[in-house]
Amino acid sequence: MMTPGSYLKLRRQAAGLSVDDVAGLVHTAPHLGAFDRSAWIGRIESDVAAISPDVVRALASAFRFDRRVLLRLIDLRSYGTDIGVTPRICAICACSDADPCLDEQTHRACAWVSADLCSGCAPTAKEETARAA
Ligand SMILES: [Zn+2]
Ligand SMILES: [Zn+2]
Repeated sequence: MMTPGSYLKLRRQAAGLSVDDVAGLVHTAPHLGAFDRSAWIGRIESDVAAISPDVVRALASAFRFDRRVLLRLIDLRSYGTDIGVTPRICAICACSDADPCLDEQTHRACAWVSADLCSGCAPTAKEETARAA
C-alpha cells in the first residue's frame, strides 16, 4: 500500500517539482531556512515527520494533490487496511479520481487502464518496458 509520504512524493514529481522547488514555495511556521525546509520535506516524504493539517495546507499551496486521498492514506497507515477501502491511486503519478492528470492539449482527464495505472502514465510505462527489453 502507498504511504502518505510516498503519495506526496509522487504528486510532487508529477507536478515536475524538486524538493528544493517545494521548499522555495511553502511557508512554514516557525520559519525555517531553505535548507531546513528541504530536509523537512524529505522527512515528510519518508513518513518520518508527521503530516499535520498545517503541513497539508502548506504543501497544497505548492502542488496539486487530493486531500481526501491523503487523509485516507494517513488513516489507513495509522489504523490498518481493515478500516475500509484503499483509495484508487495511479502507481506512477499518484493521481486519483478527484485529482486526475489533465492532457495538456485536450485538457481531458486521464482514465484507468488497469487497477493502478492511469492513461496519462500508460504510454510512459510502455516506453520503459520497451527500453528495458
Ligand atoms: Zn498516472
Ligand atoms: Zn492520471
